Amino acid sequence: MKFYNSLSRKKEKFKSLVPGKAGLYTCGPTVYDFAHIGNFRAYIFEDILRRALEYRGYEVTQVMNLTDVDDKTIRGANENGVSLQEFTEKYKDSFFKDIEALGIEPAEYYPAATDHIPEVISLVEKLFEKGLTYKSDDGSVYFSVAKFPEYGNLAHIDKEGLRAGVRISNDEYEKDAVGDFAVWKAWDEDDGNIWWDSPWGRGRPGWHIECSAMSMKYLGESFDIHTGGIDNMFPHHENEIAQSEGATGKPFVHTWLHCAHLRVNGEKMAKSKGNFYTLRDLIEKGYTGREIRYVLISGQYRQPINFTFDGLAAARSALSRIDEFVRLAKDTAGDTESSGKMPGWIAESLDAFGAALDDDLNVPLALAALFSLIGNGNRAASAGELSPENAAHALDALRKIDTVLNVVFRTEEAVPEEVETLLVNRQEARLAKNWAESDRIRDEIATLGWIVKDTPDGQKLSPK
Ligand SMILES: [Zn+2]
Repeated sequence: MKFYNSLSRKKEKFKSLVPGKAGLYTCGPTVYDFAHIGNFRAYIFEDILRRALEYRGYEVTQVMNLTDVDDKTIRGANENGVSLQEFTEKYKDSFFKDIEALGIEPAEYYPAATDHIPEVISLVEKLFEKGLTYKSDDGSVYFSVAKFPEYGNLAHIDKEGLRAGVRISNDEYEKDAVGDFAVWKAWDEDDGNIWWDSPWGRGRPGWHIECSAMSMKYLGESFDIHTGGIDNMFPHHENEIAQSEGATGKPFVHTWLHCAHLRVNGEKMAKSKGNFYTLRDLIEKGYTGREIRYVLISGQYRQPINFTFDGLAAARSALSRIDEFVRLAKDTAGDTESSGKMPGWIAESLDAFGAALDDDLNVPLALAALFSLIGNGNRAASAGELSPENAAHALDALRKIDTVLNVVFRTEEAVPEEVETLLVNRQEARLAKNWAESDRIRDEIATLGWIVKDTPDGQKLSPK
């Protein structure tokens, strides 16, 4: 597999530190609000990365942090007059519901920053021992960028621009504000009753240090892959490298992957422009998690995605082409299992699919391979040449492909109203012992892509 490593600015062959295993750290949500689709673009790219590694046989350990203490969460809790925990809890819950709706495979660990304060403190102590940090008059602790010569290598910062002694206490800042950044922030009155004790007095961690502390705790001092949105490259990831390598003297991360922005209708998403969408906004408008996932996976991760409602409509029609073929293949295969040699047109699509993923996660090409399989399958069927065995082979291949894309087979999809109405009608027909009508409705439901089974608990519906 080859990935474009932001650190070397080159596509490199991926080689994990431990053969067969891959350690992956993905910066997670700051739980001060509902995540928006721009955030989900990054989480979906990371899901594709994780699943592609698994497709190629790696055992993946993924860590995604939950930032539940920073400038924004503290402001939110204090403005709402609730504890930090109470304020962030509901956004944590909704985050997990959202990633489930988007078919994202869960990470192995979701550490929260507030559960790792001792790890942060001991990391800051190590930085003191190495002479890389200093305490300011107000009790905050700053990382001295001038003492870490590699500072700026990831984001290609102009070293001339480094201003020794300039201090930044904000969690987020622009490239031109580069300077010494806070790893421990002394308590001030804006923090209200949110603080922890430390050797430097009351305070709380800076945003950047939590990712260094938690990634190294779960993945070791050196690990394989770290990802995030391009916005995270500076200052967040640059600071993570400085803190981690400064403390351990070892290379922190071997491969850095960054995904490009998401724009909505060609513009930067902003609440003020009315083009700001959370997942629940789109689901309320009648789109499914599967359709939204399809849009978000369909661009190569290093290219910006332009999110539009036309794009969602196109996703819906692409998915219905997939559904039609899955139905056709299931009907043709019946109970037949795949046996004998896989036909060439299926093997070719699978090869093309794997090669596309291997080439820096080229999902557009991977989708082209999927649709080439579907096109060939449809052509074979209309020529009367799709055998039950080959239909079963095609289904096997689709299942394999879907371990990565997770859009082919419908899972927790809402039952359309039309089908609900037919179910009620069928129930009435059965109560009236009108079996012919009951069977007719069952067949009608089947043409809409759903299977009804009669069980002791009543009718059970599943996608076909
Ligand atoms: Zn992070």
